[in-house]
Order: sequence, then structure tokens, then C-alpha cells
Amino acid sequence: MLCCEYSFELCEIPRNFKSLQLHFYKTPCHYCNAQVQHSVTCLLCGVTMCYSRPCGSVQETKAANEGVLSWHARVHEGGGSIYLQPNDGTILLLQNGAGATFDTPFRSKYGELVGPSSTDGGAFNIDEHGGGQGALDSIKKLYVDSQLANAVLQQRKNPDSAYKIYLKHAI
Ligand SMILES: [Zn+2]
Ligand SMILES: [Zn+2]
Repeated sequence: MLCCEYSFELCEIPRNFKSLQLHFYKTPCHYCNAQVQHSVTCLLCGVTMCYSRPCGSVQETKAANEGVLSWHARVHEGGGSIYLQPNDGTILLLQNGAGATFDTPFRSKYGELVGPSSTDGGAFNIDEHGGGQGALDSIKKLYVDSQLANAVLQQRKNPDSAYKIYLKHAI
């Protein structure tokens, strides 16, 4: 019998950080059609949506205080999803309204993570050299093994976790 577990793939995204930014620069929100500076893209289905501003188009269907990311994860992904933030390349895991960020898989050949001070985005890739492919594979494995909730919980226990900033926004 075939094991379907390992046939699952995340959506294709540009593997080079500069290409990623060019690709998403003008990608409008799937729901409200606005071109926003800070969008996220769902790595399970490929839909891009607003992050830093309220997305108005799905208000009626959302629960109170629920942001579009939580709504999308709940309604379209069965509760949990993996989002990529194209502006900084970080990964956001959401499970039942709780979120945690994970390091970017875009890395230099020396393993440095792309960041705000990186002047040449073209030097950062998801590949074997810098370890980004392994980082993305382990996030995919969390999903395949139904471990998103545990990963979010672990991140919350980490005092350095950035999750608190996300609670200020309705995600
Ligand atoms: Zn999705
Ligand atoms: Zn929107």
C-alpha cells in the first residue's frame, strides 16, 4: 500500500528571497483585492491575504475578534495552517487561533537568516547549502504529523517567542 503521508507538498514559492519579494510585491489579497505591504500566503493552499490591516471582505462570516488568518485556517484548513510572510520570510503557524513564528527558511550559503539588515536578498535561498530546505521540511513534517498545535505550544513556552506581538493583532 502506498503511504500517502509523504506525497504531501507545501505550495511552491520562489526559492530565492529577492524573487519571493518581487513575486508578492503586487499580489493582491485574495479576499478584498487590496495590494497591501504586509500580506501572508497560506502554504497549504497558496492563497495570499491581508495581514497588517483588517481585511473587510470576510467580516460577516468571521467570529468576533477573529482575524482573516484565523478565519482562513479555521474555515479552509480545518483549524491549523502554515503561513509565509513574504516581507521578512518568516513562517507563522496558526492553530485554533493561537500563533507562533518560526525562523525564515531563506538563508545564505553560510546559514545566516535573511533579516531587516540584509542588503542583498538575492543571496538568500531555500536550499541544502544554508539549511533552509531542512527548516522548511521540518515545518512540513509538523503539519503532516499533526503537530502544529504542539509546535505552537512549545513556542509559547519560549520566553523569546514573538507570539505575544501577534496577540496584539487579531490574527
Ligand atoms: Zn489556505
Ligand atoms: Zn484583504
